[in-house]
Amino acid sequence: MDAAKNMGAEEPRKLNFLEEIIETDLREGKVDSIMTRFPPEPNGYLHLGHAKSICLNFGLAQKYGGKTNLRFDDTNPTKEDTEYVDSIKEDIKWLGFDWAQELYASDYFDQLYQWAEELIIRGLAYVDDQTQEEISRGRGTVDKPGVDSPYRDRTPEENLRLFREMRDGRYADGEKVLRAKIDMAHPNMMFRDPLLYRIKHASHHRTGDKWCIYPMYDYTHGQCDSIEHITHSICTLEFDVHRPLYDWFIRTLGIFPSHQYEFARLNLTYTLMSKRKLLELVQKNYVSGWDDPRMPTLCGVRRRGYTPEALRAFCEKIGVSKRDQLMDIQLLEWCVRQDLNARSNRYMVVQDDPIRLTITNWEPGRVEWFDCPLNPAEPEGAARAVPFTGELLIDRADFMEDAPKKFFRLKPGGEVRLKYTYIIKCEEVVKDGDGKVVELRCTYDPTTGKDGEYRAVKGTIHWVSAPHAKEIEVRLYDRLFTQADMNSIPEGHDYKEYLNPDSLIVVKGYAEPALAQDASGIAVQFERNGYYFRDPDSTEEKLVFNKTTSLKDSYRPE
Ligand code: ATP
Ligand code: MG
Repeated sequence: MDAAKNMGAEEPRKLNFLEEIIETDLREGKVDSIMTRFPPEPNGYLHLGHAKSICLNFGLAQKYGGKTNLRFDDTNPTKEDTEYVDSIKEDIKWLGFDWAQELYASDYFDQLYQWAEELIIRGLAYVDDQTQEEISRGRGTVDKPGVDSPYRDRTPEENLRLFREMRDGRYADGEKVLRAKIDMAHPNMMFRDPLLYRIKHASHHRTGDKWCIYPMYDYTHGQCDSIEHITHSICTLEFDVHRPLYDWFIRTLGIFPSHQYEFARLNLTYTLMSKRKLLELVQKNYVSGWDDPRMPTLCGVRRRGYTPEALRAFCEKIGVSKRDQLMDIQLLEWCVRQDLNARSNRYMVVQDDPIRLTITNWEPGRVEWFDCPLNPAEPEGAARAVPFTGELLIDRADFMEDAPKKFFRLKPGGEVRLKYTYIIKCEEVVKDGDGKVVELRCTYDPTTGKDGEYRAVKGTIHWVSAPHAKEIEVRLYDRLFTQADMNSIPEGHDYKEYLNPDSLIVVKGYAEPALAQDASGIAVQFERNGYYFRDPDSTEEKLVFNKTTSLKDSYRPE
């Protein structure tokens, strides 16, 4: 199968439903150009689900010659922080996108306030003194209409005075709210006099102490879209019930007609993508931080060695749907492997508990250097020099004493090729007092080296020269959770019960010397093993590598 072709990007494919809407709107002249936005709340780090939203919003604008704003939805002062703002910007850039303008919902607090006064004056909003519980009780249920608040018939003059007093800090948190006056019996619960403003005496990361009243999401989002002339406001499915209210504010205020469209959020097997839960994992030290390589955050997968190219290919491949679905994380891993297989440099590394391999007919002290391609797909491309000596290390798994017939690696009396170099033969197995194999004494066939005679053997194994080997730390990562569908945990159980105790195993590795000089900036391939990315914990003395993904998997995308 042609792998590159399978990445999807170049393949003509059917338009998705959003592309169809946009093409129709452009064709019919409903819009002149496309404007989208990505609206994160700066209360956590971005995760793979956000990557899907980013690829969609930025990708659609790019495809149709439009623009995308980055707008921080910062209406909740107590949970938000500039640390999150900075990380979000860094992650979007890393994914390969650039926004037209960096904006904040808080930029519009004055305008939103003005519109609230306008609604009050027009008799479409009122100040309610009920407690939160009274308000939610009064809302009714889907089958039962709500009841009017006793404060619903305040005059516009009184409402205006009270609202200004709210703004001026005359009341405590929760003492009063501003509500739209719509219909307490409306079949859509969203219309039963939704909250517009609440009192919160809290410093805001941008507006400081200027405000002690903050607008609610529903009152904010559509109007912000409208101010920015967003043509297609794309969000996840759970907002479909909010859409009529989104339209109501825009229509009532008579402002630019932005429209909202919903798509299915991304769910991945063995993965949780709720910011609240990810924050808990960080705060309670279940992981080392937001950028722990097991986290589904963009900084986590970046540290793991996933590439933006692979993430974009993945988002393209999964497409957009209007129904929630659970995607197989193996598809993402497949995309990562496809990208790294094409681009990553190759090195030989022996892991964990290697076996010493001595070449008995090798002249002591002699070193032979082999030029080996950094990427076998380009045999004439850049090379690295690999030293070969009479004292080598091999992976323990590449030797078997009582080997079955089909075992083509090293066995007593058997032959194998040491990758890029000679064919060797295992002459003697040396064990310690416990019967553990500690050394293999072998001979090499000098006619089989780089200029030597061609001779085929069934097996090839990787190796490193012991005197040249660089000891490294290898962090082997596995799934963070043991259950595929983390969104349907049985009643009475907590998601933390499903943490995989073996999600991180640290072993030693012995690497060929060229690995230390790798300057590719992306994950490298440890030959015959997998892809590994240099961790920022690395020092001059000790390199640390994170396992990105294995080399192969039986998984094949459909
Ligand atoms: P969480 O539920 O994890 O807190 P959120 O939706 O509250 O996420 P926001 O910062 O509000 O996080 O999200 C910014 C944008 O990313 C929104 O438009 C949201 O719909 C979208 N988004 C969030 N999670 C996903 C997901 N899993 N798949 C696709 N889009 C998502
Ligand atoms: Mg949100």
